[in-house]
Amino acid sequence: GEYGPEREGRVIAHFGRSLDVAASEDGTHTRCHLRANLESLVTGDRVIWRLGEEGSGVVVARRERENVLERPDARGLLKPVAANIDQILIVFAVEPAPHANLIDRYLVAAEATGITPVLVLNKIDLLPDDGGELKALLDRYEALGYPVVEATTQRQDGLDALHARLTERTSVFVGQSGVGKSSLIDRLLPDEALRIGALSEDSRKGTHTTTTARLYRLPSPVADDGGELIDSPGIREFGLGHLSEDEVTQGFIEFRDHLGHCRFRDCRHRQEPGCALLAAVERGDIDAARFDSYRRILASLST
Ligand code: GDP
Ligand code: ZN
Repeated sequence: GEYGPEREGRVIAHFGRSLDVAASEDGTHTRCHLRANLESLVTGDRVIWRLGEEGSGVVVARRERENVLERPDARGLLKPVAANIDQILIVFAVEPAPHANLIDRYLVAAEATGITPVLVLNKIDLLPDDGGELKALLDRYEALGYPVVEATTQRQDGLDALHARLTERTSVFVGQSGVGKSSLIDRLLPDEALRIGALSEDSRKGTHTTTTARLYRLPSPVADDGGELIDSPGIREFGLGHLSEDEVTQGFIEFRDHLGHCRFRDCRHRQEPGCALLAAVERGDIDAARFDSYRRILASLST
C-alpha cells in the first residue's frame, strides 16, 4: 500500500507486533504494525513511522534507546519492558514503615539501569509531628544527593510536589505493595486517560495482556507538560529481581570514590587489611547503616 512521509513518534502500548504510536508533533494515536525486519519494540521506544491509507501505520525504524528497564520472564531470562525512562520513583510510606534495606535495594537496582532514582515518601498525613525516625532516614538519602519528595493522596498540596517532579520527564513508579502506588497514580491520571486505556483494552480482547506496559501523558496543574508515566504490574515490581555482586557494590554511589583504593585489587570489603571501604566507614565518610545494608544485600544474593 501507499504510505505517507516519515514521522517521529513514541510507542505507548504494544500487543505483539501491533503497536500504538503517539505522533511527536501532535500526540495523536495511530495503530501501527512493525516492519518485518525490525526486532520487537517496547513501550517508550522512540520510532520513525509512516501513516497508511486506512488510518493505520507502519513503524519503519527505532531510535537508539537511552536506557531500558528489564524484568525476568517466566524462564528467568531478562526481557526489556520499557525504554527511555528519565526517573524511577521509589515509593515508600509512613505506613507500612520502610526498611532502609529495601530502599537501598531499590536504589541499587535503579543505579544498575543508569536511570535517576527519586525517593517518594507517601502518606505523610500519617507522619507524627516530630517526624520521628523517618526524617533521619530521609536526611541520610538527601545527603547522598537523592531527591526526596513527600506526598499524600489525602491533600492537594501533597500531590503538587509530586506533579512538579513529574513534568517534562518520563517516570515509572516502583515499590512494595501497600505503599500507595495505585492511589497516587489514580490521583495523577485524569479519568480521560484511564478511559482511553480501558477502551482500547476492550477493543483488543484476546490480544491484550494486562502485564504490558502502557505510557500515559499526565496533565499537570503546575506546568504545560505534565510529563509521562509508564506503568504496568511488572514495572511496579522492578527492583526485586536478581542483582550481581558487582551491581550491588557499584549501586552504593558513595562507595565509588573509594573502590579503587583497597590494598588488594580483588578486595571484597569484608575484613581485608587495607580495605578503603572499611577505612571510610571507620572515619565516618561512609554511613555505617548503609554499609551494613550493603553487607545484608550481598548476603541475600548467596542464599
Ligand atoms: P499499592 O499497593 O502501592 O498500589 O498501594 P494502594 O494504592 O493500593 O494503597 C494501599 C492503601 O494505602 C490503601 O488502603 C490506600 O487507601 C492507602 N493510601 C494510599 N495513599 C495514602 C495516603 O497518602 N495516606 C493514607 N493515609 N493512606 C493512603
Ligand atoms: Zn575493600
